[in-house]
Amino acid sequence: MGKHLVFVGGGHAHITCLKNIRSFVTKGHRVTVINPSPYHYYSGMGPGMLAGTYRPQEIRFHIRKMVQTAGGEFQEARVTGLDQKRRILFLDSGAEVPYEVVSFNTGSAVPLDQIETKDAGNVFTVKPIVNLLEARQVILNHIKARRPRILIVGGGPAGLEITGNAWRFVRENKGVGRFTLLAGRELLPEFPQKVRRLARRSLNDRGIEIVEGARLRKLEPNLAHLDDGHEYPFDVALLALGVRPSGPFRESGLPTGSDGGLLVNANLQSPAHPEIFGGGDCISFQGSLLDKVGVYAVRQNPILYHNLMVALDGGELSTFVPQDVYLLIFNLGDRRGILWRRKLIFDGRLAFLIKDHIDRKFMRTFQVSGELDEP
Ligand SMILES: Cc1cc2nc3c(=O)[nH]c(=O)nc-3n(C[C@H](O)[C@H](O)[C@H](O)COP(=O)(O)OP(=O)(O)OC[C@H]3O[C@@H](n4cnc5c(N)ncnc54)[C@H](O)[C@@H]3O)c2cc1C
Repeated sequence: MGKHLVFVGGGHAHITCLKNIRSFVTKGHRVTVINPSPYHYYSGMGPGMLAGTYRPQEIRFHIRKMVQTAGGEFQEARVTGLDQKRRILFLDSGAEVPYEVVSFNTGSAVPLDQIETKDAGNVFTVKPIVNLLEARQVILNHIKARRPRILIVGGGPAGLEITGNAWRFVRENKGVGRFTLLAGRELLPEFPQKVRRLARRSLNDRGIEIVEGARLRKLEPNLAHLDDGHEYPFDVALLALGVRPSGPFRESGLPTGSDGGLLVNANLQSPAHPEIFGGGDCISFQGSLLDKVGVYAVRQNPILYHNLMVALDGGELSTFVPQDVYLLIFNLGDRRGILWRRKLIFDGRLAFLIKDHIDRKFMRTFQVSGELDEP
């Protein structure tokens, strides 16, 4: 007998399942995908889109098309809660969707609860990635008017990439901007000394100011206040303050980890509810807190795909074993990158080309045909 499988969020961890929806449907199952937008933007190429290196069409998946052409049902909505006893999802549209098996890939969001934001306009969080499109337009309007003051907040990889790529966007549009990166305690504190040195040099060489040793406390219109009393005026601010899992887990009474993510075991399955699965940034992996990187979301794809099939039809569940070392490449926005894997660290054009190759290949694997020709 066919069952109802529901995917909540069409993110990176679900992309293999979404590409293979037909394999669930041909076995007689009904498949529904719920996502607030018909598109999903690939974060790895988000900073490059901000720079104009990639068109928006090149970095997004047409989730709705992917689902509907494979015989699934797509609902453009956000899941706001669930009743795990009755197995019903609640949507912001007011609809209720029953499920027999459900998988969450609701990603993460930039937490703003530590910062006072007082009517500050032109402030963009770097997630969801689509915000960067709007930020680009606002920066463009400021380039035309005068020399824009662009403030980036966050000393992690996203802050670095966004800074370098915002710089490129201004330059490509014949503008001159003033760039300040508020890096918090310090730039890339969790990275090897060499990576930090290369990143710092890249920004310094372009005249980008790096502020360390203080944290953002408050944003007012065109003015950022740090906790050491310093103030920085800005025209556009981009916030890359790290991420926190999103999804209605805790408030729905589901077991969660210390970061509020959906608690899952090595089968990517809720220990309390075997019909609930999850992957990507929204989960708290039992036993070890995983870095919030797309690398893990992508690696969880085949496990989720297999285990959801098992949850519907029976069989043996597979185990996700997180790799402790992975390749990281930062896109610095000047057609150069920094590559880091184990002891190998270098910067330059080759690093960017490797990232560009990997990212484009990933997109080619999952984009539906005709996507690049869309407006
Ligand atoms: C600027 C930037 C650059 C990055 N670059 C890299 C990189 O190069 N390599 C790397 O490994 N990692 C990178 N990361 C980290 C990476 O973005 C995340 O780890 C990755 O996006 C996680 O994928 P995900 O599918 O879990 O979440 P997301 O990509 O956030 O996707 C979640 C999806 O769920 C949907 N959704 C959310 N809430 C709901 C809801 N309530 N109901 C229904 N749907 C919902 C969203 O609309 C979205 O489509 C970067 C992050 C940033 C911010």
